[in-house]
Amino acid sequence: MKKLQNYINGKLQPPKSGNYIENFDPSKGVAFSLIPDSNLEDVAEATSAAKKAFPKWSAMSLSERSEVLLRLSKGIEERMDEFVAAESLDNGKPVSLARQVDIPRAVSNLSFFATAILHFASESHYMEGVGINYTTRKPIGVVGCISPWNLPLYLFTWKIAPALASGNCVVAKPSEITPYTAYLLSEVAVDAGMPPGVLNIIHGLGTSAGDAIVKHPDIKAVSFTGGTATGAYIAKTAGPMFKKLSLELGGKNPNIIFADCDFDEMLSTTIRSSFANQGQICLCGSRIFIESSIYDKFKTAFVEKVSRMKVGIPSDLNTKQGAIVSKDHMEKVLSYIELAKEEGGEILAGGKQVFLDAPYDKGYYIAPTIIEGLPHDCRTNQEEIFGPVVTLCPFDSEEEVLEMANSTQYGLAATLWTSNLKKAHRVADEIHSGIVWINSWLVRDLRTPFGGVKASGVGREGGWEALKFFTEPKNIFIKS
Ligand code: NAD
Repeated sequence: MKKLQNYINGKLQPPKSGNYIENFDPSKGVAFSLIPDSNLEDVAEATSAAKKAFPKWSAMSLSERSEVLLRLSKGIEERMDEFVAAESLDNGKPVSLARQVDIPRAVSNLSFFATAILHFASESHYMEGVGINYTTRKPIGVVGCISPWNLPLYLFTWKIAPALASGNCVVAKPSEITPYTAYLLSEVAVDAGMPPGVLNIIHGLGTSAGDAIVKHPDIKAVSFTGGTATGAYIAKTAGPMFKKLSLELGGKNPNIIFADCDFDEMLSTTIRSSFANQGQICLCGSRIFIESSIYDKFKTAFVEKVSRMKVGIPSDLNTKQGAIVSKDHMEKVLSYIELAKEEGGEILAGGKQVFLDAPYDKGYYIAPTIIEGLPHDCRTNQEEIFGPVVTLCPFDSEEEVLEMANSTQYGLAATLWTSNLKKAHRVADEIHSGIVWINSWLVRDLRTPFGGVKASGVGREGGWEALKFFTEPKNIFIKS
């Protein structure tokens, strides 16, 4: 089995412990590679290399740093097919999705921040007759980046690109469930002549390698994307060390459909916003609220289309629904379907594991699932499932739907469908979330603030927000 390696101080190397963890192909349910089971020692070596590299990297001209990041971006692009296949194999997502979304977005994350940094300006505030304040923004030093399994390279590069562009050195950890493309990126970094120590990629478990990053005293900021419980643990651990924290956490997003929407466009987008990446996107709308007057029409059309969605092997170019990322996660999602039944929900489509033919018969597949008849405040409608499961719920008024939509602990993203402009603005304004899509879903502009409110996180990524997070402002006043 292929053994992945850590990337520390410019070199690919095995973990200090000599121990490895099995990495599974979810489409077959079999291990296909081994990843380093890194610990404190690996993180300490990476951090010390990053600390040593920092003075030179942070003093480099912006255009030189930009060039290095552009070489990384190009390096991925040149090995596109390999990255696409690796992402699909590791995660279970359809190869078509990895080709259309994941890997191109990783390429753009790096090129976007490589060029954004050239235009990033700090502020000045003139006080008439008194003086002038100007703000400098310096990189923080060594920063930690920890990312999840659902959009592996996409979210990994979304963090390391602004961190590196703004002059920091990075110790990064991809999810142990989907490490493969981050490993390929370390090969690209070696080929691209990334200066040693600037970017270090450590593989391993959250509770050992991840924890060591969070606790290392020389890592001054942590950018984390993952579950809310992990985020709470990181905040509790890093808070007393006064580390800068960016936490992008879970969601339970509402999709609000008013009767006056463009029905066909709404229907096709709602299928994507419910089930893209097997529903394992933090931005998927898992609670669908439908205005009562079109509830039956929507239900019939949606159930008919979703029931016809083929669950298939990720490497088949025609597959729209691939495998769930891991056995544990599949079992968690199935347990929520059972819970929904216990809570009185009726399964309108899916609701069960799917078994494909050998050699995929041990893979982790779940049919896209639609449930109705549940109150908005039951556990199924309050807790994050993060799989191909949505609930339908009718509503009669804006007030009622807003109360239900805002009733969870989360507040990441919301989608709403209406052709009434005033209503769209009014409802968008009242939704408790960091992002609202009106008559669309997952249209991304890398310049916009990205993140959630309440238990969906603290801070924002994207554009200037990310560059601000990864720099420390200093205000300097001069008397006139
Ligand atoms: P997770 O919290 O289990 O793991 C995320 C990362 O944190 C992994 O790399 C893991 O190894 C690491 N980790 C785990 N425990 C740690 C610890 N104690 N200390 C340090 N690091 C630790 O999340 P997951 O299951 O990989 O991802 C799914 C979750 O991510 C969902 O809740 C989803 O909503 C969320 N998510 C949020 C966004 C967003 O932008 N808000 C985007 C994608 C995914």
